[in-house]
Amino acid sequence: MISNQTKAGVLYIVATPIGNLDDLSPRAVSTLGKVDLVLAEDTRHSRKLLSHFGIKTSLFSLHEHNEKSKCDRLINRLEQGKSMALISDAGTPLISDPGFPLVSQARRTGLEVVPLPGPCAAIAALSVSGIGADRFVFEGFLPAKPGRRRRRLEAIAGEERTLIFYESVHRIEAMMADLEAVFGLQRQAVVARELTKMFETVKAGTLAELNQWLRASPQQVRGEFVVVVEGVPQPEKTSLDGEDCRIMGLLLELLPPGKAAEAAAKIRNKPRKIFYQWALEARDH
Ligand code: SAM
Repeated sequence: MISNQTKAGVLYIVATPIGNLDDLSPRAVSTLGKVDLVLAEDTRHSRKLLSHFGIKTSLFSLHEHNEKSKCDRLINRLEQGKSMALISDAGTPLISDPGFPLVSQARRTGLEVVPLPGPCAAIAALSVSGIGADRFVFEGFLPAKPGRRRRRLEAIAGEERTLIFYESVHRIEAMMADLEAVFGLQRQAVVARELTKMFETVKAGTLAELNQWLRASPQQVRGEFVVVVEGVPQPEKTSLDGEDCRIMGLLLELLPPGKAAEAAAKIRNKPRKIFYQWALEARDH
């Protein structure tokens, strides 16, 4: 626990570029320059980033293989008043990157954890995908083993929200083939490759079209990938949404269920019987 005498340090979670160095925010630059320690996944890689911005702060290696064992020591130093910034090789820490054990322990200890938001490949891809971005599920990396990957895809094949996947160059073709096999040829998707870099490519199409494109253009099977997949469209006219229920609720205060359902069906252009059913269920509860 934090003692009353010492002011505890702050743990900053700092997003770094996913390709274009200009995407490092001025606030990130000043924070990385002023903290006592920068925790980095690969210190050699991050030293280059810091040097580019003239930042001389000491680096400490924190990666998926040592992060659990280093937590206590780092929390201790934060409690003693040292401030730290956590960065990863690219993008937002913790998003398919190290940092979760440290952040959760810092929170449990009552330490201040401050986000410095910025690049994230998943959000960048979603923002240009043209696929619904109101509700989405971030799936990260699928399992590397084909059997497990298929089973995972089968489990989420009916998901109605947009799905976002990360994939490495080694598995993009196998993963895209599995997506097509499990989700069907016609599902809309976007392959976002090398975002913010020289060979940035964003290609939209059905899964069948995208696979055809990948097979025909080996130069596209290079670099880093985000795949955004449309969710399964829900049969809108056979279910009620929040606004339907609100209107039906108001009408039921004035009219009997049959009349209220009739009016709601006209207002919302949906079948009367689903409103009537809803009214009966609401009355029974
Ligand atoms: N924390 C990072 C973030 O916020 O996006 C992700 C780290 S994860 C270890 C690396 C994966 O992110 C890559 O395999 C790829 O799927 C995706 N990725 C990272 N940079 C990318 C880029 N410039 N273009 C497309 N995908 C990228």
